[in-house]
Amino acid sequence: MTKPAALKRQTSSGGVIYKKSGDDILVVLVSVRGGKFWCLPKGLLDRGETPEMTAVREVREESGLSGRIVEKLGDINYWYYVKGDNIKCRKTVHFYLMEYLSGDTADHDFEVDSAEWFTIDEAIGKISFKGDKGILLKARARLREIADK
Ligand code: ATP
Repeated sequence: MTKPAALKRQTSSGGVIYKKSGDDILVVLVSVRGGKFWCLPKGLLDRGETPEMTAVREVREESGLSGRIVEKLGDINYWYYVKGDNIKCRKTVHFYLMEYLSGDTADHDFEVDSAEWFTIDEAIGKISFKGDKGILLKARARLREIADK
């Protein structure tokens, strides 16, 4: 009989970094696994970091861009299975809306295959996972509210 999988918990944090371009709002997605998936930039909390600190650091590392947190967008949760290690992992990811300050997507790190700006509508169509898509939909709604103020 196969041994039951060990259970593990992980917490990551990431962001929807945006800038205006004419009438459009652009956001950054990163591609991973050879371009198979398009995701929001995110990563594991380091020891002593708050989720806000991690979001700013991971967005900078994975997308090459510096941003300032505007507000929290929400959390997502998912399970994934690490086959060779027989581990089932429950992951929570905190997401923040971040205003672009500086930097270039060409400076993304090796953990991602590319980092690219898309209109928020294109990004919603392109993003691979349902949870990330929910976060982008929320970001679009919030950015419209902010723009109307
Ligand atoms: P991190 O970026 O937090 O350091 P990682 O790159 O080690 O994490 P994940 O991105 O969580 O790991 O990927 C682990 C597994 O979960 C992969 O199989 C991936 O395809 C899947 N996955 C990634 N993001 C999501 C999501 N939003 N919803 C469901 N499954 C996801």
